[in-house]
Amino acid sequence: MDALKRQRAPAPAGPLFAVAEEGAEFVHDTLDKVAVLFPLPLPEPFDYRAPTSLGLQPGMHVIAPIGSRLVRGVVWSVEREHPGAANLKAIEEVLPGSPVPEMSRAFIDWAAKYLVRPPGDLVRMVVRSPEALFPPPTYTVIAPTGEPPPKLTEARKRVMEEAAKEHVSAAELARRAETSSAVVKGLVDCGALTKLEISEDPPFPPPNLEMSGKALSGIQQAAADEMCVTVRAGGFHVALLDGVTGSGKTEVYLEAAAEALKLDPTAQVLVLLPEIALTQAAMSRFNARFGVTPVEWHSAIPQKARRRAWREIAAGRARLVVGARSALFLPYPNLKLIVIDEEHDSSYKQEEGVIYQARDLAVARAKLGDCMVILASATPSLETLVNAQSGRYAHVKLPSRHGTAELPDVELVDLKIDAPEKGRWLSPKLIKGAAEALLRGEQSLFYMNRRGYAPLTLCKACGHRMRSPDSDSWLVEHRYSGRLVCHLTGFSMPKPKECPECLAPDSFTSIGPGVERIEEEVRYFFPNARIEIFSSDTTPNGDAVRDLVARMEKNEIDILIGTQIVAKGHNFPNLTFVGVVDADLGLKGGDLRAGERTYQLVSQVAGRAGRHEKKGRALIQTYAPHEPVMQALLAQDRDAFFAAEIAEREAAGMPPYGRLAAVIVSAPDELLANDAAKLMGEKAPVVEGLDLWGPAPAPLSVIRGMHRRRFLIRANRGVDVSAFLAAWASRVKLHSAVRVQIDVDPYSFL
Ligand code: ADP
Repeated sequence: MDALKRQRAPAPAGPLFAVAEEGAEFVHDTLDKVAVLFPLPLPEPFDYRAPTSLGLQPGMHVIAPIGSRLVRGVVWSVEREHPGAANLKAIEEVLPGSPVPEMSRAFIDWAAKYLVRPPGDLVRMVVRSPEALFPPPTYTVIAPTGEPPPKLTEARKRVMEEAAKEHVSAAELARRAETSSAVVKGLVDCGALTKLEISEDPPFPPPNLEMSGKALSGIQQAAADEMCVTVRAGGFHVALLDGVTGSGKTEVYLEAAAEALKLDPTAQVLVLLPEIALTQAAMSRFNARFGVTPVEWHSAIPQKARRRAWREIAAGRARLVVGARSALFLPYPNLKLIVIDEEHDSSYKQEEGVIYQARDLAVARAKLGDCMVILASATPSLETLVNAQSGRYAHVKLPSRHGTAELPDVELVDLKIDAPEKGRWLSPKLIKGAAEALLRGEQSLFYMNRRGYAPLTLCKACGHRMRSPDSDSWLVEHRYSGRLVCHLTGFSMPKPKECPECLAPDSFTSIGPGVERIEEEVRYFFPNARIEIFSSDTTPNGDAVRDLVARMEKNEIDILIGTQIVAKGHNFPNLTFVGVVDADLGLKGGDLRAGERTYQLVSQVAGRAGRHEKKGRALIQTYAPHEPVMQALLAQDRDAFFAAEIAEREAAGMPPYGRLAAVIVSAPDELLANDAAKLMGEKAPVVEGLDLWGPAPAPLSVIRGMHRRRFLIRANRGVDVSAFLAAWASRVKLHSAVRVQIDVDPYSFL
């Protein structure tokens, strides 16, 4: 909340009006009624008065009182010379900074309705950097004027020499010239040197549109041409860029980006990536194409970079932005193209706070703002594929890898037949595959989508299972840190020496594998190989990812063991063998998208093999080789698999043939949760074409001490699910300790 409170700039240099002070409203001035939307969970904007002469416009940033607090907000509408305005409270201050463009405001209003959230929660995602409203801070450096000093002492000579090399502060210049600040000051006073004010956040250099990209193959060129024709036509348009891994999708969408930037000197292009970890690799490719690093936006960028990016984007000067899902909410004045790379990726769904699917919202935003969207993937989401097949989206295909690279050979390993040794997880076939690659001097990847050592820690003496203290989940053992960790909440504790239940010492046994355990096994079989783990624990930040990826590219690693972090976008030329340790993992729990997700992840991981000249091979371990998803992976026949999935979804009226929404009621005690859920169930409106299931205890029935109950809503396509949810919510008054979370188009059913 602190960040939302009034932000007094250190020394605002821009226009800043104190409105509410005595005498600021002139007797002759008429008053406007000004609606202000605050970044707070309030149901609607609040009304204030402001003198008409101020000329307030929608989108401008102001400070206004709510109760006894002064809060920063955005002007949502203005009614000029309103007769009732005199009775309203006054706007306190008008802040400088680029206004929130009309398009962003329309998007907020739309998204708030669609997601059934207070619009203030969404405006908060737009106005992310209060300091960015003020002109950037500056610092002073010393530079030569070209005038020679009248008297040239030895010290002065040294200062002039150093000043010619680089513009630095007076103190630094004195230090470099090994003299006192007085000498520097003397040279400034006599006009030989001068002080320059340098902005801490200079504008980003514009992309160089004279540069050209890689020479495209015929098929890539045709795809790029098709995209560019659409860009030139302008207006709302969505295209699925559907190309196998390594087919050059990035090269193709870079051409579309170049076209959009060339066509309109104020156009902005946004490229969304699923992982911050991927931005660095993408950045260098953008750099090679446009001669500049694009503007970066994600949760890990430092405050100063955030401030600079926000200011430049809002002013329309930042033309090429690469970011994570939250970058969609920035206030672009003229967004012309949004690219969503790896559009199927589950990280586009934000599951906390405001729950949204960035891909779907991007399409909605584009529709409001006459913008084009390119959805790029080798394994598109079923929803996107249906839209492409029905002709709602253009379907642009890149069916083969670029150059001589071929798709890997894929084989299934039936674990019932080719079983690993007892207590191990790698079958002899997988070990042989990696051994052969090692002999050829090539790299291998073992994919195990679970962090840590073992998912369950059990006492051999009494059978006690180590659980999270405040959530309904097992504690996962992490051997490197010696801790038991709850993957749901992040809670962790040292692994106890004795069982907390029966006090038996050293009685714990580890059940099941995680990446650390697979690493242990790989080390056992390949004691001399260079082995690394790639998971969010071993690479907690961008630098660590960059370092690991660089070492992999330089062939300094023989065998990599990774979670799904490896499935995304990386290009390792010497990686030729991929072993999927447990392809069945994602199928357990079987939600709506389990098969689809398994297909996407496993084929993306398999697609890491043989991305360059060398042929790749992928082995997939499974207990269910006859499942359709495994057969589709074996045949690399995505379309047949998706056709069957699509038919199933259509028959069941599931998305995209019907709509889903989830409502999760949670409370600090079980009784309250049950009562609240029961009351909600009773108050639900009855709507034709809409089924309501629940309440039922959520599969994760307790998280952080909150007991959870779920409703699931399925509706026919024509039903306005958001309106139903809003009407439902307005009928129920619940205990203040009860939380209700609305998830429109849920991806998680836990
Ligand atoms: P995708 O995004 O479809 O996985 P990329 O665009 O990453 O594919 O391309 C895969 C690899 O092939 C990259 O290293 C890329 O630089 C290279 N590549 C693709 N197209 C070309 C081209 N026309 N000329 C040279 N290299 C290319």
